[in-house]
Amino acid sequence: MAISQILETQRAWLASGKSRALKDRRDTLRAFAAAMDRHEAELLDALRADLRKSPLEAYTSEIRMVRDELFHVLRHLKGWMKPQRRPVPLLAWPGRAKVIREPCGSVLIIGPWNYPVHLMLTPLVGALGAGNTAVLKPSELAPETSAALTRLIADAFDPAQVAVVEGGAEIGESLASEPFDHIFFTGGIATGRKILTAAADKLVPVTLELGGKCPALIFPGPGERERLLGQMDVIARRLAWGKYLNAGQTCVAPDYVMVEQSLHEPLVAALAKAFESFGVGELGKIVNRRHFDRVLRFLADGRIAHGGKHDPETLTIEPTILLDLPPDSPSLQEEIFGPILPVVACANLDQALEQFHSQPPPLAIYAFTSDEAVRAKIVSDTVSGGVCFNDTVVHIASPALPFGGVGASGMGRYRGKASFDTFTRERVVMSRHLWPDLKFRYPPATATVERLRNFFRFIERH
Ligand code: NAD
Repeated sequence: MAISQILETQRAWLASGKSRALKDRRDTLRAFAAAMDRHEAELLDALRADLRKSPLEAYTSEIRMVRDELFHVLRHLKGWMKPQRRPVPLLAWPGRAKVIREPCGSVLIIGPWNYPVHLMLTPLVGALGAGNTAVLKPSELAPETSAALTRLIADAFDPAQVAVVEGGAEIGESLASEPFDHIFFTGGIATGRKILTAAADKLVPVTLELGGKCPALIFPGPGERERLLGQMDVIARRLAWGKYLNAGQTCVAPDYVMVEQSLHEPLVAALAKAFESFGVGELGKIVNRRHFDRVLRFLADGRIAHGGKHDPETLTIEPTILLDLPPDSPSLQEEIFGPILPVVACANLDQALEQFHSQPPPLAIYAFTSDEAVRAKIVSDTVSGGVCFNDTVVHIASPALPFGGVGASGMGRYRGKASFDTFTRERVVMSRHLWPDLKFRYPPATATVERLRNFFRFIERH
């Protein structure tokens, strides 16, 4: 079906009011959950084929995320849909006012290849909970998952409610030029810019979930050094895990580490031990040869302290620790998006923050410290989508926490209530009676500015 035809059928669906009522939305979400059950094995197989994700990783970081979102929305939707009473201005007294939230309409969701199930279906849950219809455009770089998603959606929904359009950049481009009511995009910064430009032409609101470099900081507060040294193994395990996940192809992976000079050596030793203990048995593959070559180029930036083995046949790169990097090396400038972890020694937190500020704001900042003053400084002196202390990545696992970036890492928020707000529009409904009708508002003026000012000053004081 042509894109314009899909949009037409979706507009007819919206006009019919079929997905307006709470009960209809809940039925839709329950049908969605049931289809997820029926297609779960197929999705796990597709994720193994496209990215060699282990079943456990695929279940926890893809399927579970969507299901948690589904049940969170089912639990809270009734409360979110309630109209909010608001006071009326004096001029409209007596009267009543409320704010209602209405579906945006037909939503376009374009997704990337790295978490191709989660990043396509989690926004869809929010869009459907908000009463919209949707068109999905999965990434062509995860073709098995794209096909499996198409089958799941066709099984669960009428295309007038949810449709999938498969294809690459050209298809994405032509979709983004259609008059959708909202575009929700997850992917790279360059594509995000193109989407925003295309949407500007039709004045379509846009949510952008983009990328960047998420740093990890290890700077002890006063008297904390010994404690961090004693816990270096767990710090290293949590860092290494964030990088190992999906072979580093995670938008919120710890991209690089900045560590206080005196902790540098112990950290590198503990990181090597952590990667060693994980092995490569459950390591995902780099998505394709182009990205494999791109990631490999970073290895030339510095000294390899651990890892570095790679295999173009299986598109595998062993988790690698890089040291002695010049500040302008590509691995400290570009998003790495692979299993390579640069570790940079800094004299103190201020020096690290200087390096941090040379980059656009990231999706996440990780910092290993329990010192409240260091934590407060990191939060107040930086900008990012989120901050997570003493762990990596886990702060994105809750539908109760809004997710998104700032500036180059994105605009807008989603998950749970944040998705509901993103995919609805606030509308004001004010109701008045025709009596009383105070004449002072009508010309010719009976009040002077001075009398009015005195009246409002009196109100302000009480
Ligand atoms: P990408 O921008 O190349 O592609 C994303 C999607 O956009 C794909 O479906 C692609 O077909 C489509 N597309 C490409 N050109 C288009 C165009 N001109 N118009 C419309 N659609 C177009 O990104 P990718 O390589 O698939 O994903 C990796 C990037 O995504 C990384 O930068 C990563 O940080 C980011 N990312 C962000 C998040 C997040 O939640 N913020 C999550 C995962 C990945």
